[in-house]
Amino acid sequence: MQELMSKIPKVDTLLQKEEWKGISEKYPSTLIKKALNEVLDKVREDIKNGKLLDVPLISDIVAETEKKIREIVSPGLRKVINATGVIIHTNLGRSLLSRTAIDAIVDASSHYTNLEYDLTKGKRGDRYVHCLKILTELTEAEDALIVNNNAAAVYLVLNTLAEGKEVIVSRGELVEIGGSFRIPDVMRKSGAKIREVGTTNRTYLRDYEEAINENTALIMKVHTSNFIVKGFTEDVKSEDLLLLGRKYGIPVYYDTGSGLFCPLQFFPDTREPLIPFESKKGLDIVSFSGDKLLGGPQAGIIIGKKMYVELMKKNPFVRALRPDKLTLAALEATLLLYLDEEKAKKEIPTLRMLTASLPYLKKRTQRIVRAIRKECGSSDILSHGVYSEVGGGSFPDLKIPSYGFSVRPKRVSVNEFERVIRGLEVPIIARIEKERVVFDTRTIQEDEEKILVRELVKVLNEYDSDE
Ligand SMILES: *Cc1c(COP(=O)(O)O)cnc(C)c1O
Repeated sequence: MQELMSKIPKVDTLLQKEEWKGISEKYPSTLIKKALNEVLDKVREDIKNGKLLDVPLISDIVAETEKKIREIVSPGLRKVINATGVIIHTNLGRSLLSRTAIDAIVDASSHYTNLEYDLTKGKRGDRYVHCLKILTELTEAEDALIVNNNAAAVYLVLNTLAEGKEVIVSRGELVEIGGSFRIPDVMRKSGAKIREVGTTNRTYLRDYEEAINENTALIMKVHTSNFIVKGFTEDVKSEDLLLLGRKYGIPVYYDTGSGLFCPLQFFPDTREPLIPFESKKGLDIVSFSGDKLLGGPQAGIIIGKKMYVELMKKNPFVRALRPDKLTLAALEATLLLYLDEEKAKKEIPTLRMLTASLPYLKKRTQRIVRAIRKECGSSDILSHGVYSEVGGGSFPDLKIPSYGFSVRPKRVSVNEFERVIRGLEVPIIARIEKERVVFDTRTIQEDEEKILVRELVKVLNEYDSDE
């Protein structure tokens, strides 16, 4: 053993070897040394417990070192292929940005900008003016304010207008949005007192009216987003709440959730509040997310009457909620696309995926399946209809007919197969249904098809060949 130990080369001698060439060009020497030392420690340990009977080849040491370095430098946040058919998949990052929004981010991050600089006056300006023009154009709201996400928007509205006072809200709308975001929890944190009215399934205008007292600061309506009450139900429309608010001089706030800006004829019975339509009713405040149906970056958008938005801008906490310039650049570029709805549906990935036609999805599916079959003829792979979901707490009961394919691996379980493709360099996230691994083409991007085919062929040949 002593003899073996003494045969392990010294770090500095090792590093002189030809074999390091590719690696020393790619990685800093301190990182290489650290990783190499760890590899050599392991070699010594293995020799000690008799697991190694000889000193490994230099090429093996180099390979092992590079593997260690790769583990350190490979980014934690990586791109994945979403084959789940859930379009606004919160766990997979919600919305993909349009080309123009990406270009706007690149531009704003590689140059100085007039973020808080007034170019006409030549002095300090306001970072919130940037999305203001397009938002007021699209919604006819008087003013707007952008924060980090809609949860922050809810907090800011309530904290500014109702701290220590009462907010009237229907019991049927005190929802949990997911990821432990509960409307009543945020309301309490904001310092507002919740005045619940009505019942889970039915709330009437008179319930709101009876709850009004000298402590009432706000009437709030929340879009229930991810769930539906069906059957014996009743809720009060925002325009009726607005009339009530006017009668008593109380502002009315509607948290609409998703940020739908153009009607999707695809879904005739749309339950999602349409932002321009709601805003044009003259609601005092409306807030929604930037990265749900709107299809932009993560943001919370508050629009409404100038007097209320001004108060929010003056809230000392607003600075802790303010978005960065990249978000503002991407949001403005996304909103600009909505000036032409047809263009928005083509260029904003969220809308494009939502409205993709069945023949188009079928054609792409067949192209993918053909390419896989060519390389793995004996595998059990089928193309067929599937159902997509909107996700992000929008259209909760809607199953959108879609097209995709599925495989049933022969030599491993579906669970094992799903785990393997999730561990690929570009992980593929799929669903398991009826003992098959299902891939929905709707959420697979066109430029991902090649990698998808290449990786699935590799895995199928490894885990599914007949031999
Ligand atoms: C999603 C949602 C929120 C939270 O929005 P984030 O942008 O995810 O913070 C708040 N309210 C409603 C009604 C929602 O649907």
